[in-house]
Amino acid sequence: MAPRFFNTLTRSVEEFVPLDPAGRQVGLYCCGPTVYDFAHIGNWRTFVFADLVRRTLEFAGFTVRHVMNITDVEDKIIRRVRETGTPLREFTARYEAAFFEDMQTLHCLRPHVTPRATEHIADILALIEKLMQQGFAYRAADGSVYFSIEKYRAAGRSYGRLVRLNLEQLRPGERVRSDEYAKEAVADFALWKARAPEDGEVFWPSPWGEGRPGWHIEGSAMSMKWLGPSFDLHLGGEDLIFPHHEDEIAQSEGATGQPFVKYWLHGAHLLVEGAKMSKSLGNFFTLRDLLAKGFTGREVRYALMQAHYRETCNFTLEGLSGARTALGRIDECLDKLREAASAAASGTVASAGADEDFSAPYLARFGAALEDDLNISAAWAAVFDWVREANRRLAAGAVSAAGARAALAAWTKMDSVLGLGGREEPPPPPEIVALLEARQAARRAKDFARADALRAELKAKGWLVEDTPRGPKLKRA
Ligand code: AMP
Repeated sequence: MAPRFFNTLTRSVEEFVPLDPAGRQVGLYCCGPTVYDFAHIGNWRTFVFADLVRRTLEFAGFTVRHVMNITDVEDKIIRRVRETGTPLREFTARYEAAFFEDMQTLHCLRPHVTPRATEHIADILALIEKLMQQGFAYRAADGSVYFSIEKYRAAGRSYGRLVRLNLEQLRPGERVRSDEYAKEAVADFALWKARAPEDGEVFWPSPWGEGRPGWHIEGSAMSMKWLGPSFDLHLGGEDLIFPHHEDEIAQSEGATGQPFVKYWLHGAHLLVEGAKMSKSLGNFFTLRDLLAKGFTGREVRYALMQAHYRETCNFTLEGLSGARTALGRIDECLDKLREAASAAASGTVASAGADEDFSAPYLARFGAALEDDLNISAAWAAVFDWVREANRRLAAGAVSAAGARAALAAWTKMDSVLGLGGREEPPPPPEIVALLEARQAARRAKDFARADALRAELKAKGWLVEDTPRGPKLKRA
């Protein structure tokens, strides 16, 4: 069965047929992070969703080329660069590195290409130049270059493909300079923003004067550079449908005259404890905040994969504790299967009548569920029914060596999509890290009595200190 996805462009679930005539290669683009802060778990819901789409396609036998841009110049970044007085690259490098670290903690496969906007200025300028030549872009009096929706529509192109817009209200020549604007503010949007005093040192030369790219053109330039003018899948959170993705379609198709993207997939937002995340409500979490509370990346990944991607996901700390219990059930079952596989391999006679491959129907259910527009609840149901069945058979001694090996192989396939991996130790809580750091400071000061007292205190709290050539390491007692 071919995978099926809900395409925002057609507002329906469609069979996935790649553009590749051989039906194998798939181009997938997901809008990446704006590196002005640590990504929050809402952002991570979207990136885990993109990871799930990629892994599902690979599970189905496609070869995916996954591209995800790094937005390292836009309005919010410039504001923070100004506020912190840090050079642009130095400022964004910190959050970009943190992003890739978090990506690894959450077991997301690293995209094959992760282009930075600031390294694609030439491609962006070439694209704007094409739009100028087509007559869809114009330089305004302030030196900025805008996309003309009126000219685009007059050429028979359609603006408002992903969302229904009230274009009656469109006033020719009305402009928005800001990267993010409301649906009601539909107006010509900036492709190139003329250098303003508040931009500080963030500017590049261009045929239209010094300035910087608008956010929307960055996406068009980088996706087409790495995947070609037409590619299969474009993903992002639902907040990006308008204006970002609508503008990407207009810029790309306006410049190339070819269809830009075949399938647009959008993930719904994440709420925390039923509310929109906000610092003032105290429900704003980065991944790092959750690790500091003693959760693992694997548990957070599990929790982020509970709801269907088109449904709002309500993230709760209680749900995250539930993730630990659920993962424990899977881990225990895998331990027993490994035991059964090695016990039988070392000569134990398999029980008579054992089913060689009882896992196959569960694996088939799992694959079918995911290929049905990523029906994750049905996929989890297949996983836990399989765990129950394996436990029942193990308890009855009805799992042969071949059955245990086949079950473990089935799990490897399921986990190639789920990406949970093996058990993970939660990181030591900040209080424990602080005690270890205090012990290090005491040792450096040659206050060995205090260092020993701190080691004893750590032990009393359940942590052992091991001094290694690369520094001290904490182990649970
Ligand atoms: P940004 O770093 O702001 O460009 O956002 C990165 C990705 O996170 C985009 O695809 C957004 O749509 C997505 N996103 C932002 N907030 C949330 C949220 N609360 N839940 C899910 N996705 C989100």
